[in-house]
Order: sequence, then C-alpha cells, then structure tokens
Amino acid sequence: MNSIYNNFVEAIGNTPLIRLNGPSKETGCNILGKAEFLNPGGSVKDRAALAIIKEAEENNIIKKGGTIVEGTAGNTGIGLTLIANSKGYKSIIVMPETQTKEKIDTLRSIGADLRLVPAKPYKDPDNYIKFSEKLAKEIYKKNNGNTIWANQFDNTANLNGHYNNTGKEIWNQTKGKIDGFICSSGTGGTIAGVGKALKEKNNKVKIYLSDPKGSALYNFIKFNELKIEGNSITEGIGNSRITANFKEAPIDGAYSINDHEALTEIYKLIENEGLCLGTSSGINIVGAIKLAKELGPGKTIVTILCDKSDRYHSKLFNKEFLIINNLPIPNWL
Ligand code: PMP
Repeated sequence: MNSIYNNFVEAIGNTPLIRLNGPSKETGCNILGKAEFLNPGGSVKDRAALAIIKEAEENNIIKKGGTIVEGTAGNTGIGLTLIANSKGYKSIIVMPETQTKEKIDTLRSIGADLRLVPAKPYKDPDNYIKFSEKLAKEIYKKNNGNTIWANQFDNTANLNGHYNNTGKEIWNQTKGKIDGFICSSGTGGTIAGVGKALKEKNNKVKIYLSDPKGSALYNFIKFNELKIEGNSITEGIGNSRITANFKEAPIDGAYSINDHEALTEIYKLIENEGLCLGTSSGINIVGAIKLAKELGPGKTIVTILCDKSDRYHSKLFNKEFLIINNLPIPNWL
C-alpha cells in the first residue's frame, strides 16, 4: 500500500476488514465487515463511481471538462461529484426527493448540480433513473458529446470494479479463509463483482443476498418471481427489477430482512462496538448473522459496511420518526 497518495482518487478502496464482535460471539463464527464507509467519499459507491469514470476515460468517451450525469439514491452521486471535482469534470445528479436531508445537503455542499425529482416507480417514465438518462441525452446534444450517463444499474463497469478490487481485497485479506459473503443489492454491482471474484477463487464460498422489505429480489432468488412485499426505510438497496449488474451475481440463497431487525443491530453496534453504520449495513449484518447460523459455528462470513449512520441522522436518531414507523428506539435518545 502507498503511504502517500497523489490525489483523492487513489485513496479509494483498500478498506480494512473489521471483526464484528457481538455478531461473531452470538453465532460462534468470525463475522467480518468490509469498512467501505472509510472510502474518501464515505461509502462503497466511491468504487462504482471510479470504475465507471475510469472505463469511460479508457474508451475515450469523456475528457477534461466533460459532464457526468447520473440518477442515484445519493452515495453514487457523492462519489461521482468528488471524483469529477478532482479530475476536472462536471456532475449532474438526479435524486428522488425522498432521500435523507443529510445526503441532499452533502451533495449541495460539494457543488453537485442536484436535480431532485418526485419518487416514481421504475416503470414510470419520470422515474429518477429514466429522468437522468433523458437529461444525459439532452446534455450530450448540447455539449456536442463529452457527456456520459453513468448508468450504474446497467453499466457493468460497476461490477467489474468490485470484481477487480473489492472481491480480490476480501480474498487476500482473509487469506482465502472465507466460507460466506453476504450483502444487499441496489445496482447489484457489489454482490455480482465480489461474488464472481470469490467463486472464481473457491466455488464453495456461499454468496447470499440480504434483501430489505419492499424489494422484489428475495422472491426472485427464492421463487423466481419478482414480487414485492412490505416496505423499508433503508436507502440505496432493494430493487423491483433485475439489473445488468445483478444478473451476473452468482447467488446461492437469500434472506428477507425487516427494518426492526436492521435498526436493532445498528444500535447494538454503536453502543457496544463504537461502529456507527447506515441503514443498508444493518440489513447486511442481520443477513450475516442468519448466514452464520445457517452455515454453523467456526465459519468466516464477510459482509459490507456500506456507509455511516451520519447520512441518516434524521431517520435513525429521530424519535418521532421511529415511533411513527414502529421502529426500535436507541435507549440513549
Ligand atoms: N448501501 C448503500 C448505502 C448504497 O448507497 C448502495 C448503492 N446504492 C448499496 C448499499 C448497494 O450497493 P450496490 O449498488 O453495489 O448493489
């Protein structure tokens, strides 16, 4: 590892694995979290943003002064904007207005050209992803090229980034002593890229999906049916369709996790281990505990700690919000 990075971009990736002591003790397994919240933009999505931009640069479809347009739940937008700033690009970020104020404020504070749109299902032509695609086409025309639509959901540069980096890092960090990997899926880039990298090294490593309520992916894996049940306050994860990235994921099984379980785990980790994690990490850790119980004691399970709780303060530490949504309340509130 370099001791001095030449710029912000070089500091993306090579995150540590942190043992989750409570979940490990509870299951008799070694449950490890890949600390993606330590990426310089604060989330796992720095990796996808970088992989997408690098591929566009390699293919000569963007050059200095160019514009990157994307639809995002927030974290990809933060990563893209920071990388764009450091490389001399502009970013235009389309985001559903239902995402937390913290992510909206972060995007504004780093100078993103932020377009908030009403939350609409994917089939609606004004869904934020489709809106961003239309906008990218308009700007491409206006700029005479030098504009990309990052298209994180169906651009497999995303999974390739995780295959080449996140997955290989996990294999090397565990020295190949890994029995299971589990995480949730938004675009599917993480689970597909890491899953492929680990299976290629050892086909016996189990790859599991941790899916929030309100997502169709659990029913797709279990029953081959894209059916949504329930809902969730989590952000950036779950999907109603099979993206090009998710399609590549070598998945052995899935769990459907509710918010109550996820938030209980988030609060326990803050209180007992000093780890302050975001909502998708809660879904991932509950899944890791379930997988550890299924595989039995003595196994090593890795999951992703995607971002920090500070991106969700207005939900996770808002007593009124928690009561209205019938969610657990941390005892220090
Ligand atoms: N957690 C958070 C907080 C995210 O923002 C995202 C991406 N939207 C994910 C998890 C899911 O990662 P992926 O897109 O690689 O499936």
